[in-house]
Amino acid sequence: MAPTHTHMNRSPTDVLQEVYGYSEFRGNQADIIDHTRAGNDALVLMPTGGGKSLCYQIPALLMPGLGIVISPLIALMRDQVRALDQLGVRAAFLNSSLSRSDQDEVIARIQRGDLDLLYVAPERILQDDTLAALGRSAVCLIAIDEAHCVSSWGHDFRKDYLQLNRLKAAFPGIPRIALTATANTRTRADIVTRLELSNPTEFVDGFDRPNICYAVQPKTDARGQLLKFLDDHRQESGIVYCLSRKSVEATAEWLEIRGFDALPYHAGLDARTRTEHQERFLRDEAVVIVATIAFGMGIDKPDVRFVAHLDLPKSVEAYYQETGRAGRDGQPADAWMVYGLQDVVRLSRMVAESPADDAHKRVERSKLDALLGWCEVTTCRRRPLLAYFGESRDEDCGNCDNCLRPPVTWDGTEAAQKALSCVYRTGQRFGAGHVIDVLRGQARAKVFEFGHDQLSTFGIGKGFSDVRWRSIFRQLVVHGYLDVDHNRYGALRLTGSSRALLRGEMTLALREDADKPKARSVRTRATVKVEDEPLMEALRDERLEIAEEHGVPPYVVFHDAALLDMIRLRPSVLQEMLEVSGVGQSKLEKYGQAFLDVLNRFDRTEPEASSG
Ligand code: ADP
Ligand code: ZN
Repeated sequence: MAPTHTHMNRSPTDVLQEVYGYSEFRGNQADIIDHTRAGNDALVLMPTGGGKSLCYQIPALLMPGLGIVISPLIALMRDQVRALDQLGVRAAFLNSSLSRSDQDEVIARIQRGDLDLLYVAPERILQDDTLAALGRSAVCLIAIDEAHCVSSWGHDFRKDYLQLNRLKAAFPGIPRIALTATANTRTRADIVTRLELSNPTEFVDGFDRPNICYAVQPKTDARGQLLKFLDDHRQESGIVYCLSRKSVEATAEWLEIRGFDALPYHAGLDARTRTEHQERFLRDEAVVIVATIAFGMGIDKPDVRFVAHLDLPKSVEAYYQETGRAGRDGQPADAWMVYGLQDVVRLSRMVAESPADDAHKRVERSKLDALLGWCEVTTCRRRPLLAYFGESRDEDCGNCDNCLRPPVTWDGTEAAQKALSCVYRTGQRFGAGHVIDVLRGQARAKVFEFGHDQLSTFGIGKGFSDVRWRSIFRQLVVHGYLDVDHNRYGALRLTGSSRALLRGEMTLALREDADKPKARSVRTRATVKVEDEPLMEALRDERLEIAEEHGVPPYVVFHDAALLDMIRLRPSVLQEMLEVSGVGQSKLEKYGQAFLDVLNRFDRTEPEASSG
């Protein structure tokens, strides 16, 4: 029933257009495809959403024989194969989730030469029966996805990956292509040596995710701030990250009461609930998942419109990875975070109290400091973020909070001096809360108990609100003028840098915390014109209906980008549908008419009638 290999005499661009419905390759895709087709090994680094899959899928379609894809994410294989089905590509997967007879069926298809792509779990590929079955068919390439799993330096080491070097001998001369989104130089070197890649070319795409708008706000009332943020995201999918299971549960419940379809996800929930919530998130269009960092690895839902952090991640790498789950489809997406002094204290305590040795703790500490420093920058956020990964750029991005609304700074020298002297006068034994009470001259029991109402610094900070003092203390800690003493329950103490400031040998510019929390830029939001909203709605409905009928997530039918393109291009006959990004031959035949009917149901707005 399946067609025989139909793409072999085509060019990569033809396949891109006919199968995927895209008109141009991105970044290094075209070079990687040529390189692989020529029989060479490669190491591919591309950010999430960069388009890694095409780098091995297209060569596999162009070359005679079977392309093998090794992936650690068993849960994803089924979805990937279904998505390929939709494109008319002959694909299957082999892993422990299949019944015996289904596995036999796949093996039979391999032996008949009836497959273009086979997804296999790492432990499965090296089993004798699998190798035997594959040995009798022509394998044209081997793709090793999430290749960083081979490195113990990476964040997601898998023992089974260490065996994958055996593929070199098992499939001599077959090109192997290792792909990952996260790799520092050390991990990169590990991938090449441990997989025994032969003379591989490294293709490194930049880390930039231009469609993600980065924003960080000082935490004043986390949930209230979240709610304001989410108001711009009703009917959209997103992830809210919290540090603890308890706050995951509480936040999900709180959002649900406020009309969001919010579901909790953390390692303490039983496996069934977790799977159920993950499935809902993948399949429905507007689910907010509230999660600990246990959630995310292996989620390749393309239309995640926002990632919100209610608590700080541990490092810039972690932040980049977690926010990277937003906007894989290239459409505008938000990475939004709130953080406050409490987070700084809590995370640095976690580092201090961790069982790791001192050298390791220092590394952790400096990673946290890098993130904190980034939170406080007053310039473009994207530049330091990319610089952290070794990528420099000269221009501001225009798509982060600081670019969109440049923060105001003020001369905080005098305020800082007051804060530091009050820390000193109270004996460097108290947290920010108490020191602020003293500064503001608050009549609190604890203040009298320690006689702090008698200090020269009592009440010298009356002019500022509690919130403003918290902002000042947060910045003093982040910039290293105060230090958190974890042997004393998070008491603040002076540092080596405090002195110069106290003596008036330097000045200090502080960031004015914005009181109006507004993250999303007007510019990036302009996706559908108001007058097109009913049409977009109708196209979404059609998509949902088809998706349910076929038992796939809506984005497998079409991405939002495709629907938006339909509105932009307004095809009126089937052939014109092919112009739409994301419409290839197979989807044209399957769904073209249904979407065309929806488009034709809506009158074209006359140019004069639409508001300019
Ligand atoms: P990655 O695995 O690198 O995270 P994917 O391979 O899943 O990324 O691709 C991300 C999205 O971008 C997918 O929906 C894919 O169809 C789309 N895509 C990939 N290459 C192109 C291209 N050349 N033009 C348009 N869209 C593309
Ligand atoms: Zn910027």
